[in-house]
Amino acid sequence: MGEIWSFVEAGPEGIEDVSLEIIGKAAELGAQSNMGTAAVLTGWGVEEIVKEVSRYPVDKVYYIEHGELAVYDPAKHAKALHQLVEKEKPEIVLFGATYNGVDIAARLAIRTGAGLIAHVTYLGIDPTDGMLVGHVPGFGGSIVAVCKCRPGVLQIATVRPGVFEKPNPTGREAEIQRFSPELHPTDGWKVVERSVAKVVDITRAEKVIVAGMGTGGDLSLAKKLAEKLGAQLAVTRPLADLGLAPRDVQVGSTGVSLRSKIALILGVSGASHFVSGIRDVKTVISINIDRNAPIFQFSDYCVEADLFKLVPRIIEELEKEGG
Ligand SMILES: Cc1cc2nc3c(=O)[nH]c(=O)nc-3n(C[C@H](O)[C@H](O)[C@H](O)COP(=O)(O)OP(=O)(O)OC[C@H]3O[C@@H](n4cnc5c(N)ncnc54)[C@H](O)[C@@H]3O)c2cc1C
Repeated sequence: MGEIWSFVEAGPEGIEDVSLEIIGKAAELGAQSNMGTAAVLTGWGVEEIVKEVSRYPVDKVYYIEHGELAVYDPAKHAKALHQLVEKEKPEIVLFGATYNGVDIAARLAIRTGAGLIAHVTYLGIDPTDGMLVGHVPGFGGSIVAVCKCRPGVLQIATVRPGVFEKPNPTGREAEIQRFSPELHPTDGWKVVERSVAKVVDITRAEKVIVAGMGTGGDLSLAKKLAEKLGAQLAVTRPLADLGLAPRDVQVGSTGVSLRSKIALILGVSGASHFVSGIRDVKTVISINIDRNAPIFQFSDYCVEADLFKLVPRIIEELEKEGG
């Protein structure tokens, strides 16, 4: 019986949401196709995380443990993972499409000659041949490429965060298998200095304010409104390209997808590359000065107004009401 693996990432705040999302999906695919499932972690001294992972719906957890894996270095983590793949020969390995996930997935694909379906928004098993099928949106979501790897190779997919549901813990603990890879200090980088940037995950936010180029690049009003509403601030790509906001908060086909209850969209035209990122938002409210702006076709509430006049009024009202 082949296995479907989910590569699990964890940071200071615990297990990454997308890692749990792929574990949930792998459990579903495993049940459909009669394949076993395993979570796989690489690291050093992360027993608590390994234990926590074992409480989710997996048949087993592989813990690839080595002192050389204490600090993130994709070359070493990919080499260690490759050794376990060679030993256990899984059918499928899923990764979250995070910076580190795509980095290690690509390295593993090169090392093993695997097929890799990148940034999928759907995963299934083809009942005719038992192969993994992934959907990859293209051209801003206006087409969907249905992808499969070529037969006879390891199948890898990276999964966009926020597209699958997180599973609940099962109430039992799966078997944990430790693996000690052969690694040497010279296998990867020599870390001279390490600085960690704070990444904002807006895919889980309930309320989001999205600022577009209609703000003229001045995000102060959008930030103030977000603060008053307890919402997260997101932007369109041109604003991220200008360096006015980090790439993690860019919405759209080359950014992230929102699943919020509400999104208030300020001065965004509604290009197809953008709207693919707001499809799963429950209520979309857009403010645009142009009544023919395409964004209105994707909005539940359309407000034709100058955001520089309307947003200060909203903030004023919120301040009056005490938030
Ligand atoms: C391969 C590729 C991938 C891409 N990926 C993404 C992506 O992931 N995300 C993304 O966002 N874009 C992406 N883009 C870019 C995308 O095509 C659009 O160019 C971009 O979304 C436009 O951003 P915008 O709506 O902020 O700006 P604009 O298109 O310039 O729209 C500004 C809007 O603000 C309105 N406005 C102006 N002044 C005011 C005012 N005072 N009050 C209210 N409204 C006002 C205007 O009427 C207009 O509708 C991608 C493009 C390519 C080619």
